[in-house]
Amino acid sequence: MPGAPQVPAEVAGRSVRTGAWIDRVNPARTDELVGQATRGDAALTEEAIAAAAQAWPSWWHGGLEERAARLRTGWAAVQEVAEELAVLLCRELGKVLADCHGELAFSGMLLERVLADAPAVLAESETDDGAGRLLVVPEPYGVVAAITPWNAPLVLAMLKVAPALATGNAVIVKPSPVAPLAVTRMLGLLAQALPLGVLNVVPGDLDVGQALTGSSTVGKIAFTGGVETGRRVAEAAGRNVVPLVLELGGNDAAIVLSDADLSDEAVERLILGSFLTSGQVCMAAKRVYVHRSRFDELVERYRACAAGALVVGDPMAPGTTVGPVATAEQVAAVAGLIGDTRARGGAVHELGTVPDADALTAGWFVRPALVTGVDDSAPVVANEQFGPVVPVLPFDSADEAVDRANASDLGLASSVWSADEDRAFALARRLRAGTTFVNTHNRSGMSLRAPFGGVRRSGYGREYGLEGLCEYVQPHAINLPGVLRSGGAGGSSGGRAYPVS
Ligand code: NAD
Repeated sequence: MPGAPQVPAEVAGRSVRTGAWIDRVNPARTDELVGQATRGDAALTEEAIAAAAQAWPSWWHGGLEERAARLRTGWAAVQEVAEELAVLLCRELGKVLADCHGELAFSGMLLERVLADAPAVLAESETDDGAGRLLVVPEPYGVVAAITPWNAPLVLAMLKVAPALATGNAVIVKPSPVAPLAVTRMLGLLAQALPLGVLNVVPGDLDVGQALTGSSTVGKIAFTGGVETGRRVAEAAGRNVVPLVLELGGNDAAIVLSDADLSDEAVERLILGSFLTSGQVCMAAKRVYVHRSRFDELVERYRACAAGALVVGDPMAPGTTVGPVATAEQVAAVAGLIGDTRARGGAVHELGTVPDADALTAGWFVRPALVTGVDDSAPVVANEQFGPVVPVLPFDSADEAVDRANASDLGLASSVWSADEDRAFALARRLRAGTTFVNTHNRSGMSLRAPFGGVRRSGYGREYGLEGLCEYVQPHAINLPGVLRSGGAGGSSGGRAYPVS
């Protein structure tokens, strides 16, 4: 087993060890210290903000080609330690090792996609005609603060860092203290290939977050996390009129129509849509609505397929698909939902297989479960559970399913399951969500070209796609009205102070 590394912060081109540490234990064996990350504070954050403010103009003016070359060099350094990073992520988060490898590889794909798309987003447009000369220049915001959660720390950081840096901004990342090790190490290596201060990483808690959200030097904040934290971030940013991307929680409905394919393969996709990363995914299927004519069949098929698909155990062991949850608080939260379900007369069906039950007592393991016999007011349905428990509920008509799916205050993702593609797309249009997957849910439904983000309390702004890149530039319009050029009167008499084109 590897030793416990100490991962420094990265500020202004320096690897910083403040002497204060964030300890991270292994959720699968909580007596094992996985490593320590430098605990940043407000002073270190201010230093990072100042470094970024100094760094971004020349980073931007250096041009995209130079930025892309530096970023690719940095990513090559990350890839050299890919195995170490995946193992570190697995041990600090409890996410299964294959998914940790997948997360790192996907982060690299994101970077490449961003670099391929950046020329289109950075293209200036110039119009010169009778109406005058208009130049529109997409410009960076300058200093971008990225505040990220723990559940997919590499990808969720890269979704901000790659587009922000490609478009000429400098960035300060504040990873979550729950899983700060792999992401800080990954970004530290990337930062070392870039000019001083272009990319800074300050792991820490509230003081670091508040130094970022309270700064008037920061030009844009990209935040991913819970709804209540998002509200506080928006309040703080509002005081300095700093714009935001807010990627918040979800309570995704999956709607299984009467004609849905319930083959093993399809049901397994539905199961993984809920239980990847032990259910700790913003876009997991968190409520499954099934047409009453297929309800019993689905529950039976779900339980049968889950026996093979959900193997609970050590996330490092080959064959495991469900590791522990990330914190003791998550264990307690799910236990509370299960207890409430039973108290209100609902049924809790344990799912999956547990090859070594004794091993689970050493960590924060929660047995995956399916819940039936509750209505939409039960907390397990009404709230984002963010753990391995999912309610399955019958409906009688598609209209009813749409109404119940849309009753949530959250609107991140959703899915429609039907053998009829057009029927699924028609129903999807009626769902209030930023994304609707068809015949899948969660990671397997994502596309690098599809903008992703929430509506309503799930937030605003987008990641992925061209829209995700556009979040990091703002148009600067430089305009000479034609009437002035042609020697016409530009005076302000009468209605002439209004533009003529
Ligand atoms: P969280 O809101 O507790 O923390 C997110 C980050 O904000 C952390 O880095 C935390 O330290 C920081 N923070 C906390 N208070 C702050 C403050 N007042 N000012 C500035 N920063 C502050 O979320 P979490 O528990 O880390 O993550 C789980 C939540 O994230 C879930 O609700 C999940 O749905 C959501 N999430 C959303 C997406 C998405 O793309 N929409 C993706 C992943 C996770």
